[in-house]
Amino acid sequence: MGAVASDIQTQISAIGRELLAGARTKWSASDWLLGLMTRDETARLNALRFVDVLPALTDDASVVSHMKEYFGDEGLPIPIPGIGGGLGRFALGLAGGGIGAKVMAGAVRTAVGTMARRFIAGETVDEVTTKLASMKKEGLDFTLDLLGETTISEAEADDYQKKYDDILLSFTKKLAAWKEPSKLKLAIKLSSLCSQMAAVDEDRSVEMLKVRLRLILQHAREVNAEITFDMEAYNYKNITLRVFKELLLEPAFKDWPDAGIAMQAYLRDTPADVEAMIAFAQSRGTPILVRLVRGAYWDYETVIARQNGWPIPVWSKKEETDASYEHCLRLLLAAYPAVRTAAATHNVRSMAVAMAAAQAAGLSPDKMEFQMLYGMADEVKTSLVKQGQSVVVYTPFGDLLPGMSYFVRRLLENTASQSFLRMAGMEKVDETELLKAPGPLAGGIVMAQQKGFVNETPRRFTAPAERRAFAAAIEQVRASLGRKVPLLIAGKNIETVTENSTDPAKPSRVVGQISVGTPDHASAAIAAAEAAFDAWSSKTAAERAAILKSAADKMAARRDQLSAWQIFETAKPWREADADVCEAIDFLRFYADEALRLSNEQNLDRAGESNAYRYEPRGVGVVIGPWNFPLAIITGMVAAAIVTGNTVVLKPAPQSPVNASLLVEILTEAGLPPGVLNFLPGNDGVGEALVADPRVAFVAFTGSEAVGKAINAAGALVHPGQTHIKRIIAEMGGKNAIIIDDDADLDEAVAGVVESAFGYAGQKCSACSRVIIVGNAYEDVVKRIAAAAASIKVGLPEEPGTIVSPVIDAEAQSRIRNAIDAGKKTARLVLERTGPEHGIPTEGSFVGPTVFADVPPTSPLFQEEIFGPVLAITRANTFDEALTLANATRFALTGGLFSRSPNHLALARKKFRVGNLYLNRKITGAIVAHQPFGGFKMSGVGSKAGGLDYLLQFTEPRCVTENIIRRGFSPDVE
Ligand code: NAD
Repeated sequence: MGAVASDIQTQISAIGRELLAGARTKWSASDWLLGLMTRDETARLNALRFVDVLPALTDDASVVSHMKEYFGDEGLPIPIPGIGGGLGRFALGLAGGGIGAKVMAGAVRTAVGTMARRFIAGETVDEVTTKLASMKKEGLDFTLDLLGETTISEAEADDYQKKYDDILLSFTKKLAAWKEPSKLKLAIKLSSLCSQMAAVDEDRSVEMLKVRLRLILQHAREVNAEITFDMEAYNYKNITLRVFKELLLEPAFKDWPDAGIAMQAYLRDTPADVEAMIAFAQSRGTPILVRLVRGAYWDYETVIARQNGWPIPVWSKKEETDASYEHCLRLLLAAYPAVRTAAATHNVRSMAVAMAAAQAAGLSPDKMEFQMLYGMADEVKTSLVKQGQSVVVYTPFGDLLPGMSYFVRRLLENTASQSFLRMAGMEKVDETELLKAPGPLAGGIVMAQQKGFVNETPRRFTAPAERRAFAAAIEQVRASLGRKVPLLIAGKNIETVTENSTDPAKPSRVVGQISVGTPDHASAAIAAAEAAFDAWSSKTAAERAAILKSAADKMAARRDQLSAWQIFETAKPWREADADVCEAIDFLRFYADEALRLSNEQNLDRAGESNAYRYEPRGVGVVIGPWNFPLAIITGMVAAAIVTGNTVVLKPAPQSPVNASLLVEILTEAGLPPGVLNFLPGNDGVGEALVADPRVAFVAFTGSEAVGKAINAAGALVHPGQTHIKRIIAEMGGKNAIIIDDDADLDEAVAGVVESAFGYAGQKCSACSRVIIVGNAYEDVVKRIAAAAASIKVGLPEEPGTIVSPVIDAEAQSRIRNAIDAGKKTARLVLERTGPEHGIPTEGSFVGPTVFADVPPTSPLFQEEIFGPVLAITRANTFDEALTLANATRFALTGGLFSRSPNHLALARKKFRVGNLYLNRKITGAIVAHQPFGGFKMSGVGSKAGGLDYLLQFTEPRCVTENIIRRGFSPDVE
């Protein structure tokens, strides 16, 4: 360290020590919750989860039962009124219900409410203004933050805008009436003003946000208030930065000096973003405020990146975030007056750095500010004020229920083992340690490590380069539409009479000219597969697996183009198409690995005998696929069949032959010998001929229940000359339910339902088509689901933000419409979107999102697969009733539960009988190797795709036993 640097270090230490002196937070008995949360990790987790669910519990018995579930009979040490602030422990075992429950629930609500109010300034304008006035007396300024629910519909976004307007009106009036009038400062969350914000559709998100924000900024300007944009999850970062900059360059705001933005030091992007922001402020010519925070969603960002295999956007170590914070602070302070810095931190070292850097830049204390949260480290605020610094208190207010997630974040922050507050307050960590300089800022990209099988990484559409590449691939494919698709039999392309495969969004657009096979071709294809069988089945598993791996690499290399073909031929929106291609790649790699695992002959020897157990191919297989996952599903079935040594005839769905031909092309390029995979586009009759052929050993089918049953029946017939029973693997339909429990997080439940029900217009076998709501919130939840469904984008699949694209063809459209019309006779229609006034394009086979409530459980709406964007909602009085309703169908594919009751979650694991059960998340989007996929009952026969048993279905297990005793001598006796 050089002399200058060491001088600064000494100065920082001196300032820090002064701030710390007398400012160490004292934890009192009333901090029972913080005490509990720092006891151990289990206690911390349970306490957090309990606090999170508490406001949703409307009756006393439910509060008591949740306490029991989270803390057992030991109970919860909470302050009991009347015993002098001391701690009491309710014996939960004794308080079954009635008066006991009432007293206990009341005491718990009061105790948690008291804690929450430490961090939340109040619920009403008057309550908050009183608090602000007393802060003012202590020399503290403030910026308001309105707590709220997650915005999941445009109606809710409108409400928010109104609320912001109300705040601007009511508070400015109050503040103007003070003896020393005060300027209103307001923080705004962009996510509250747009329910459709999505990184994949940055342009539209930016435009939608600007519409509402313009009005708010205009209003703020009129009443002379200051507005700061909060920064939220990484997904929204670029959108937030863009909206801020673009609005501030508009003539109405170009010379407005009262706008600010928060930037998060924990993001690796932030140092560069800060430099760009400074350059922006300088070129704009009117100052801006930058509030530098560390960032509140570290766990979330890390986990999401890990789940998807994306680069981790946050610094891995706290020390790195500290270094980034100090680096950005210095950049910002040096940019005065173009930028006014708000150092938002509770870390005394960071404060000392800010003060030292401000001094070095020649700034007097009024040229910057500190921001600290309401209710946190109050002694430090006083210390700063004493030193002549301006301190702005970030002051959240609003209803306690939506405020709980804010409160939980504060609890987390206060109790995290690396939190400065915890170290300074509870752990009493030594001053030198607290004020130590962090190491240098590390650079580079850190990739997330995935456990187990590594899935193909979905596109991260927050990255502009990935979006651009994807859009370019769509244009490339658009230019080559009309692709000729011949049959492939014994390695030879055969052209026949063609039919067009068309675009569901523009039926006049020809995506491919498809040669259509006949039953004669079916017979020839089976003969070709039969001829290729000996050579192919004699290859080693390693040789076959290598071809799959090579095909996977080829697919990965043309990923975006493959997605684009899905967009045109099957109307898959961007994210869905990308996910399908990733899944196809995963199937190739996973089954290659699996085939190698199974190829090891198992030695089951016993004394005097060798017993060798191994798997052999079954013979010629037929693969019949659906159109709704046009690449992934056929890739999975074909890959499993061929990697285990079988040969195959593939018949794709008539709606998606071009996509299927791409799989054939890639496998051929990867070196698959002629005849191993024969390709036979054609209608249902060709499928029937294939299934009936006596030379076929097995059929792998995915599609509807009706066809699955027909194939099972046809496959069971033994034809003359047939010497075996055919193995039928059939994945079929579903009527999948999500239960929303009475204690569920409704923001998450509604979002999960809407995504599961309407993504790709509900045309996924896993899609949610039934919702069962427990308890009193029924009407509210129905309304929120309908409002959210009314807000999602219905549009062309090539537009990145589209969620509901057209259904596959006109036939499907009229079938779905008929189901809707019939439904109107039995249930209450709460949402139907038709016509351009509801955003539905006139061309293409569109069906808008449709929601029914009060659906009778025996009605077709509740029982039959509609395979479109139609949702049936019904009510259950109890959780048990909900489970019974969920199970009361002939299907058993996917299901979901949103609940915060550990007992109900456990019960669902046991009793919610579906192949894939999802707890507290959406029910679509299974991931190969992690969520093996498939159902039972009328949803399918066979084991799960992407799972450990899948390949076994394509094999015949054999056991060879040899007696190794000859003339009394056995080589295995030592
Ligand atoms: P579909 O059953 O209409 O067609 C599937 C395939 O079967 C097509 O290739 C079709 O030509 C062929 N076919 C039709 N009749 C045949 C017959 N008699 N003999 C042989 N083949 C015949 O299904 P679809 O519309 O393509 O796909 C949607 C259905 O698939 C939905 O029911 C959905 O739930 C289901 N699905 C299930 C899963 C799963 O994993 N369980 C996955 C995707 C789709």
